[in-house]
Amino acid sequence: MIEKIADKAVLIYPEFDTQNTFWSYASSLKMYAPLGEFGLPKRLLPPLGLMGLFNHLKPYYDEICLIDKNVNPGSLVDLVGDAEHVFIGGMQAQEQSLLKLAVALKKMDKLVIVGGTAITPQSPLMAIADHLLENEAEGIIDDFLQALRQGIAKKYYKGGFVDPEHFFQPDYASINMQNYVHMAVQISRGCPESCEFCDIPARFGQAYRVTPWQKTEHSFRQMKTLGWTGQVFVVDDNFIANPRKALEVLKNLYKIGENIGYHHPKYTELTLRLADDSPLMAELRRWFHQCNFINGFYGVETPNKASLLETKKRQNLRGELSLLEKLNIISKQTGAGVMMGMIYGFDHDTDDSIQEFIDFVNASNAPIVMAGLLNALPYTGLMTRMENAGRLIKASSGNNSDGIINFIPYHFSVQQAEQNYLSILDGIYHPKAYFKRVIRHLELIDPDLQSQYRAGNDKLIYLLKILTRKNALSFWRYLPRAIAIAQRRCGLNTPGFAALLAEYFSLCAQYTHFNHQVHAQRQQISARNYEKWQQFSWKQLENSPTELHEITRLMGRMAG
Ligand code: SF4
Repeated sequence: MIEKIADKAVLIYPEFDTQNTFWSYASSLKMYAPLGEFGLPKRLLPPLGLMGLFNHLKPYYDEICLIDKNVNPGSLVDLVGDAEHVFIGGMQAQEQSLLKLAVALKKMDKLVIVGGTAITPQSPLMAIADHLLENEAEGIIDDFLQALRQGIAKKYYKGGFVDPEHFFQPDYASINMQNYVHMAVQISRGCPESCEFCDIPARFGQAYRVTPWQKTEHSFRQMKTLGWTGQVFVVDDNFIANPRKALEVLKNLYKIGENIGYHHPKYTELTLRLADDSPLMAELRRWFHQCNFINGFYGVETPNKASLLETKKRQNLRGELSLLEKLNIISKQTGAGVMMGMIYGFDHDTDDSIQEFIDFVNASNAPIVMAGLLNALPYTGLMTRMENAGRLIKASSGNNSDGIINFIPYHFSVQQAEQNYLSILDGIYHPKAYFKRVIRHLELIDPDLQSQYRAGNDKLIYLLKILTRKNALSFWRYLPRAIAIAQRRCGLNTPGFAALLAEYFSLCAQYTHFNHQVHAQRQQISARNYEKWQQFSWKQLENSPTELHEITRLMGRMAG
């Protein structure tokens, strides 16, 4: 029997610091998704971490509720009411909102507990919040709550890597699912790879920890019971981090689908190892298809081999196949679409690399490409290397598509890096380039797989909205090709035909968002004023002791 700790707790997921990110899909969601219950556009994903914490905290309070400020614009005073305890949590990209929220809650005299990946011992939240829980909360939350009850809770707790049996079980009834476009579930944590820019191995460990499948079944069953039949993002850091265990996970996922009578359409994050020429990977590809994975997000990073070696992304270089061939094989054999994460700004990148980058992306079958400038994040090898070299400028915003680099690049200046980033965006999101990738994508994905969840999803009104937009000329221009592909592959008026066209229209809507993002980036970057020190590459500075001295002085002043 758990002893109650207070009458009421509220959990708040703060707004993202900017809606202006490639990840938000803000412009396209407005177009094809109806508004949420409070009249705001839907968000792509729900606050999964807080949904798990909500479930765990239920026995400790008489009343508990979860508020996502991204979908609920209500006033803080009304939303929090007479709650004694307020838990807030989020990511680096919500840090400014977290700070504002914590300040406002302290003014209301609430006990404020903060968690999530935005927390470090250096965070300004240390001076505002009552208690901070860094990293995985599952292993420390009960001790913390007990100490809180006894009035002896510490200011700061750091969670270790917990056994997967203790992963929080999200409660999907804690949110209104209609405020979101996709649902989310986490099956595994951790990654054994050592990519220099990535904080996952340090934050979540290099061991691949898998949620017991009964808990995963509970999540999918609850979603289904609550009426959710849409897409589910499996938010794992690297789904195939341990390929043998990943195969077991896929077989269990299939069993779950059979048990609950529905195989939700899914997508996840993984590496190009999936294309490796081995019996195990071939089996994994087959099971991805079997389990209804309709998309995968691949950390391709760069076509520059020297940069891949520099950042220790050797897994992309395995085997004989080129990166493009790997993407192609994955789509062909899993039937799923591929999305790419790409990065520019490695020490082996030069001004000349941008054309190689653009040509690579545009020769691929990935319509959606999240391109960002390299940033040094806390707890990464890159951060240590940049700090030791004196190249670090400031903390990263956590928004990897804001066109800002937070260290001095090697072969070009900060200013040039940001200009090069704009050239990349222009090159890969030019309508001709984007729609050529869309056409390749439509040739490869499995129409039967896509048709299972497409039926009835695409309403005429949203179609009209898409095709009558100001910039819809390209949508019309490539429509006959899309129709021809759908007809050739599936025959007229078949479910596959409808699915491929629905995918085409969905990618048209998403193009509106990417186009808007590129435009916004161009405006922001063009408006930036660059100091003299931002006009030198690190290579130039190494050869110019006077400039280097001056810059080190200025950077020291900024950090101070
Ligand atoms: S980038 Fe992906 S593969 Fe590399 S360490 Fe991070 S999670 Fe693992």
